[in-house]
Amino acid sequence: MGFDVHVLGTASARPTNRRDVSGSAVKCPDGIAVIDCGEGFQSRFSHQRKMLKLHEKGTTLKPGNVDVLLFTHGHLDHTWGALPWMQTMSLDHRETPLLILGPSSKPVLDALISGSDLPADTPPSELARQWRSWHSLGANNSGLSFPTRWILGDVAEQRWVELDAQTGKAVALESMPQPAGWSSCKIEALQTHHSVPSCAWAIKQVGKRGKFDRLRAAELRLTEQQRMSLARGDDVTLENGDRLNASSFRGQSGSGLSVILSGDTAEGAPGLLSTATPTLLVHEATFLEAQSDKADEHLHSTVAGAVRTAQQMKVNHLALTHYSSRIKDLETVSNEIDTEGASLHVVCLNDGDRLRIAEDASVSHLTFTQEGWSKRNMSPNR
Ligand SMILES: [Zn+2]
Ligand SMILES: [Zn+2]
Repeated sequence: MGFDVHVLGTASARPTNRRDVSGSAVKCPDGIAVIDCGEGFQSRFSHQRKMLKLHEKGTTLKPGNVDVLLFTHGHLDHTWGALPWMQTMSLDHRETPLLILGPSSKPVLDALISGSDLPADTPPSELARQWRSWHSLGANNSGLSFPTRWILGDVAEQRWVELDAQTGKAVALESMPQPAGWSSCKIEALQTHHSVPSCAWAIKQVGKRGKFDRLRAAELRLTEQQRMSLARGDDVTLENGDRLNASSFRGQSGSGLSVILSGDTAEGAPGLLSTATPTLLVHEATFLEAQSDKADEHLHSTVAGAVRTAQQMKVNHLALTHYSSRIKDLETVSNEIDTEGASLHVVCLNDGDRLRIAEDASVSHLTFTQEGWSKRNMSPNR
């Protein structure tokens, strides 16, 4: 079935007549992930659902199928719609558990673990502060009809902490949890560069297990028992102390589909440049070239900066979003897309648009019109 990315807000901090603040839903074979949840998100989600019912029979977008809510950072244009949306799902008697993940910083995680007060200079955009206030407003197991897990991470260090919405206590986790019941897709947090702790989110299909590397096992003269351990997925320590990583004995057969949503970031985010090339990158492009000083000051990207990042990542499909309210016309955005003959296809998103990644890794851009979505394969910009 591939992926269906629903773009439900393409404005930056200030909404305009035609654009709302950030929020996206990615439907993958295992369920739905919501990435950011700005003011009014629930109305946009239910409007999109209604339009699907009307124009695309058989395609659903049920809030009950949202298994995970991923925040790219704590700026309010990315978070302020989450609590009311959760309360509506509770009114609708949702029972499915919801996993909630977001980036934080080392000092905040340290304070949470030790049970001390948050550092005095902790800004309002800190997710730990916002989540605590939501917990006190009823986003907890007695206030909601469904169980929630609240996980904060220092993304650079891949250190994850779970907050108990009932007691306020925090415990360290071994690794970032995946949504309950997901088996063919997984989620990854990638470090970005913004004025507050931030990350991009990758949703990727996990490749099928490849064949066991028997040749290498033979070259290393492994015993039958060692081979069996590695084949099972258990690491093995040799007599000379060398450690053999089980995963290195199994390749991935066929690379899975993947989509990355950048959130707010300056160009060249470290986590984006160091990750495997995704099938599709949705990247912010807050400013035009004329405001590149503003992009540098506030750690956002320009259109050209987003394109440069995509080229460095060797991405073939790039979709731009999160425009400053100064951008009135997407023509001005597409005028600044220069792909220099690279095999990069770029589209500019509007609210309600969809991006479909098919099983064969082809990507199409579905633009919303009052008659429904019109589909175009993503093709060279000019
Ligand atoms: Zn933003
Ligand atoms: Zn921001």
